[in-house]
Amino acid sequence: MDIMNAKEALKVYFGYESFKPGQEEIVDAILSGRDVLAIMPTGAGKSICYQVPAMLLPGITVVISPLISLMQDQVKALNEAGIHAGYINSSLTDAQISRVYIKAAEGAYKILYVAPERLESNDFISFTRQIGISMVTVDEAHCISQWGQDFRPSYLRIIDFIERLERRPVVSAFTATATEAVKNDISCVLKLDSPTIVVTGFDRENLFFDVETIKKKDDYVLDYVSKHPDDSGIIYCATRKNVDTVYELLSAAGCLAARYHAGMGNEERRQNQDDFIYDRRSVIVATNAFGMGIDKSNVRYVIHYNMPQSMENYYQEAGRAGRDGEQSQCILLFSAQDIMINRFLLERKDFSDIPEDDIELIRQRDARRLQVMEGYCRTTGCLRNYILEYFGEQRGKPCDNCGNCHREFSEIDMTDEAKKVINCVYETRGRYGLNIVLGTLLGANRARLKELGTTGYRTYGVLKGRPEDEIRLLINNLIMDGYLYQTADKYSVIRMGNIDPLKNPDTHVVIRTHKDKEPEHRASAQRRRSTDTLTKAGYELFDVLRNLRLSIAREEAVPPYIIFSDKTLIDMCIKLPEDRVSMLMVSGVGEMKYEKYGKRFIDAIAAFLKENPDCVTSIADAEETSGDINISDGRKKIRVSKQPFCLAPEDGERFEYKDLYLISEIKDQLNEITTAENVRHIFGTDIFRLLTQMGYVEEKQIDGRNVQVQTEAGLSKGIVSTEKISKKGNAYSVLLYPTVIQKEIVRYYTEIRDMANPTEEKI
Ligand code: ADP
Ligand code: MG
Repeated sequence: MDIMNAKEALKVYFGYESFKPGQEEIVDAILSGRDVLAIMPTGAGKSICYQVPAMLLPGITVVISPLISLMQDQVKALNEAGIHAGYINSSLTDAQISRVYIKAAEGAYKILYVAPERLESNDFISFTRQIGISMVTVDEAHCISQWGQDFRPSYLRIIDFIERLERRPVVSAFTATATEAVKNDISCVLKLDSPTIVVTGFDRENLFFDVETIKKKDDYVLDYVSKHPDDSGIIYCATRKNVDTVYELLSAAGCLAARYHAGMGNEERRQNQDDFIYDRRSVIVATNAFGMGIDKSNVRYVIHYNMPQSMENYYQEAGRAGRDGEQSQCILLFSAQDIMINRFLLERKDFSDIPEDDIELIRQRDARRLQVMEGYCRTTGCLRNYILEYFGEQRGKPCDNCGNCHREFSEIDMTDEAKKVINCVYETRGRYGLNIVLGTLLGANRARLKELGTTGYRTYGVLKGRPEDEIRLLINNLIMDGYLYQTADKYSVIRMGNIDPLKNPDTHVVIRTHKDKEPEHRASAQRRRSTDTLTKAGYELFDVLRNLRLSIAREEAVPPYIIFSDKTLIDMCIKLPEDRVSMLMVSGVGEMKYEKYGKRFIDAIAAFLKENPDCVTSIADAEETSGDINISDGRKKIRVSKQPFCLAPEDGERFEYKDLYLISEIKDQLNEITTAENVRHIFGTDIFRLLTQMGYVEEKQIDGRNVQVQTEAGLSKGIVSTEKISKKGNAYSVLLYPTVIQKEIVRYYTEIRDMANPTEEKI
């Protein structure tokens, strides 16, 4: 077993060309019999790290996973990919479980998912005697740690199970939780045997982070959701009441929303969750009860209606956006009220099961975490760096892909004004809310103020003429800094907080305001999504393919993203595959998916192209999105898209012909010699496709693997194959192309130049 085979498994079963960072190392380690502990963020592709080796190891891989929904999803996805997998959990009847045992004993599964509780059952233990377990994988391994957020006592007994097996299998553990304590716990409790530890960076490059300090959150949410009708999103709220209000708000405005919180019945919750996962409802409004075990890959935004209690929670929840690697947004709506709500919730926290000694420690830890979270909401620095530094990653430059990196901040010293505000609150004796305090300070002429008598205060009108927003911001800041205190109930009033620090003349109250930078001043503005490369026609095709996916998903009763991810559909819209070879070049299309659905998607694309002859579906190659050129012609901007690769007439003369070349060598030379303006790079796969069309080569299945071979015609032209030895010492074959073929390739790319006609698109 070696990594060559693993790469093939990756391609054949999952349709991916290459491993993501960390994956290859892990697969390699497992295949050479070593234990593994992998800490990788959500969406990094942990599943493939054990699923690929599971396919290559002799016996069965037992995957321990904490949640039923998670198992069902994964098993569906594996079966779709042509991998035989099953699960055992409490959702099955005894009869169904027996059937799984029988099938597994017959060797029907390569992967078996079980809940940790199952490992203690006698039936299961005697069942494992009849099968060869090559690997035990612990997914969501942080559940093993009492320091983690989702501690599951039954995870502690996994090791008993492993030790009872006749032969110790490879043990691999996966989690997205990085802290030292959790890491050590996993390693010790599972007794990992000098494991290969792989920790990849925690950054999620495709996520755009932002904090909006606003009061009118409802307006914001409504506006955002209506502007993104085709996107799937999650809106997290701190309380059930908020969930209901936001849900009703969206529904009343005609948005297709679902809701989820612990106050609802099981059946209703499951129904709503499914509506969201199966794309029947595009938005779900939920408390933090929602999400663990949600693998939906095309969540385009996560909005936090309230500030969460810790960075750990925030990153986990926000991280549910963009698992598929597409650009997605994580927006936190922040107001001073959030701090009140959270302090209130922490004060009320139930400590009844906690030993007396620990309570104070936990309180302190909670308070510290809340402080860090507040810091995130108030920082003017790079938000991404703030998060990553908290998780222990040293960062350099600002990311230029978060809200703060796109803003310019200015600071105003408002110490004098702050003292006036505090005096006013003192005069109210803590009986009134924000609006009365504000009105009094600004000297508003309101009957209500007269009625209450604040018009007679010494502070009445002391800030007359100042912008209301500015003073409101100041008051909110004073609340956040603890100088003032705002009660969290319905008739919230403002009281004195701790003003001692202000008695020190060195203490200043500094208010930060910001304005958004003009888009031109942002170094790279917002990163583009791959849908941004689609033209109007491309978008129409994307819609066609999405509908096809939805009907297949209904036929098969699986969530749409399990058939193909959005990313895969977009890649189809860009590559417009017309046959098996080209379809298999689409990222995310493996052999099995091709067999099952390839034809239907090829047909749909062909039908679309027939109806829309000559349409241009994308304006830049997916790998080359940054390759567009923007030309400003005074008023309107014209984007000239890059053209397919070609050679200028004289370019071919610089090609250094040789007796035999590898395709990659031809590719490199072509990219080097071209002087044609505004063309994309050429890839080896493009050349292989050309040679397929010319009838010189083809892809063949040999021993269940795809191998590139020369045809009769290719053989007579002199294409030869030769054996190469991989780094790991395994033999594999490659094709070498003679001068005649090299010349044909060069001629082809010189001639197609005439076909290259720049298209213009207004943006
Ligand atoms: P995690 O468990 O780490 O959160 P998943 O295993 O659910 O992540 O994978 C996240 C997404 O990345 C899935 O859509 C998966 O298909 C995709 N993916 C995984 N490995 C690769 C790869 N090598 N190339 C492209 N996409 C990949
Ligand atoms: Mg996972």
